Amino acid sequence: MVIGAGPAGLTAAYELATRSSITPIVAETLNRVGGISRTEYYNGYRLDLGGHRFFSKSPRVLRWWLNMVPLEAGKDIENFSDKDFVNIPRSDAEMDEKVMLVRKRLSRILYERKLFDYPIRLDTKLLKLIGFGRSIDTLVSFIKSKLAPVKPERNLEDFMINRFGSKLYGMFFKGYTEKVWGIPCKNIGSDWGRQRIKGLSLGKVVTHSISRALHLKQSRIETSLIDTFLYPKFGPGQLWETVSQEIAHLKGQIYTNKSAAVMYHKNGQISAVDIKGPDGTETSRITCDYLISSMPLSELILSLHPPPPKEIADIAKGLVYRDFITVGLLVDKLKVCDTNGSPLKDNWIYIHDTDVKLGRIQFFKNWSPWLVADHSKQWLGLEYFCSEGDNFWNLPDEEIIMIAADELNRIGFIDKNDMQTGCVIRACKAYPAYWGTYDKIDILQEYLNSFDNLYTIGRNGMHRYNNMDHSMLSAMAAVDHIIEKNFDKKDIWNINAENEYQEERS
Ligand SMILES: Cc1cc2nc3c(=O)[nH]c(=O)nc-3n(C[C@H](O)[C@H](O)[C@H](O)COP(=O)(O)OP(=O)(O)OC[C@H]3O[C@@H](n4cnc5c(N)ncnc54)[C@H](O)[C@@H]3O)c2cc1C
Repeated sequence: MVIGAGPAGLTAAYELATRSSITPIVAETLNRVGGISRTEYYNGYRLDLGGHRFFSKSPRVLRWWLNMVPLEAGKDIENFSDKDFVNIPRSDAEMDEKVMLVRKRLSRILYERKLFDYPIRLDTKLLKLIGFGRSIDTLVSFIKSKLAPVKPERNLEDFMINRFGSKLYGMFFKGYTEKVWGIPCKNIGSDWGRQRIKGLSLGKVVTHSISRALHLKQSRIETSLIDTFLYPKFGPGQLWETVSQEIAHLKGQIYTNKSAAVMYHKNGQISAVDIKGPDGTETSRITCDYLISSMPLSELILSLHPPPPKEIADIAKGLVYRDFITVGLLVDKLKVCDTNGSPLKDNWIYIHDTDVKLGRIQFFKNWSPWLVADHSKQWLGLEYFCSEGDNFWNLPDEEIIMIAADELNRIGFIDKNDMQTGCVIRACKAYPAYWGTYDKIDILQEYLNSFDNLYTIGRNGMHRYNNMDHSMLSAMAAVDHIIEKNFDKKDIWNINAENEYQEERS
């Protein structure tokens, strides 16, 4: 039994179906597969929840993706080319549709209504944008942070200032990070910085600027600074929909609109799972040999029957999440263009200005033209970080769409009258947070490891701020363990920590 049809759950089900005699049964709460990496549809337009770059340092993950959706003709990436053997047979028509595009990444920061390169590049353009006086201040504050770093690093603010200096931190980290998490950086543990922007520092930014100038190979550049990525022609959901079709061909079963509600256990084994329909009815009980769960760790623990000890339940209840809203907005035209007058090529723009709630804008046409029905229009994704049940979250969709259009108008990107239509997608628990009871997560890990046939995988399944590839690697490791049993099950928890690749903030 697999809970969740996101990247982790589907990877586990596919691996089981292809490599073992086990028939996976997948239960998914939503009406479609892909989890946070799904693609939604609106009036012939497609939208991601955030833009999803496919990028990994793991050849196993890359091979897996390109087996599902082959690389576009004539392209190659390190160690792979479009000629590489693909072992899923496909018709010519399918080969036209199932294409992994190689995209150039462009993302910038809007700060004080000006567009700054991202990742930040130390060049004359930056100095011109921030002005001579502020450039000197920035340099002085950087030197100060090196000569007298804050010790010990108590929180994310200390972590950032020690790497970039207080001025750069104030301009390019504080406002946006506080929008994402909804609390001051001072209240966020420095663990967050270590996990998400490991290895990135002003020194690395300088090296990157030089590397770019000298055209050095990508694999040697800090992962957060990578310039190209893969992207399925019809969005990330296309890949996960393909995976679920393959699982069905292999006789695996995927039930959408079905939530795992109660997990029964006896003598250290999960024996059965109750799944329920959307209105809480239509309960059926599925017995299982193994349970692989990618549902939120807190919810899994609180759904165990008999219930866990109080100490465990309290830690589970104390895990914190941040939620997320994407507004798909169709507009006639943008009011902004690049300095040379050409249309913006950005995949997304971070909004650091704090007079608007808007966190990021996605330009879906620049991810893939096939996401867009009418190419004369602009199809945008406006991203809002919020908490389930807060005032913004509870607003009616029409009001959220109007706020989004109004904010885009305010930052000068559109004329509000050019707004055509929009849609609102809410994503609960999009970001597992590293505070609350997170510091006691090892107690939860130990408790869950006591169930022989239970594997928790993926982003919320492990409460890790992970990307798709990490979710997949944890799923692959769970299946490796089920099939081979030749390593300690608790090592699955270390996959993220041991893996080199850390993506910058989502
Ligand atoms: C804004 C944003 C941008 C991102 N950008 C990128 C990117 O560019 N590249 C990248 O690699 N990653 C990116 N990520 C991360 C990526 O989305 C996740 O790493 C990935 O989707 C995690 O996969 P998962 O299967 O672990 O979890 P999820 O995608 O969360 O899937 C879990 C599934 O379980 C289901 N579920 C939950 N509870 C139950 C239950 N009780 N019963 C049944 N089903 C249940 C959920 O509905 C969901 O479908 C981004 C994330 C966000 C929020």
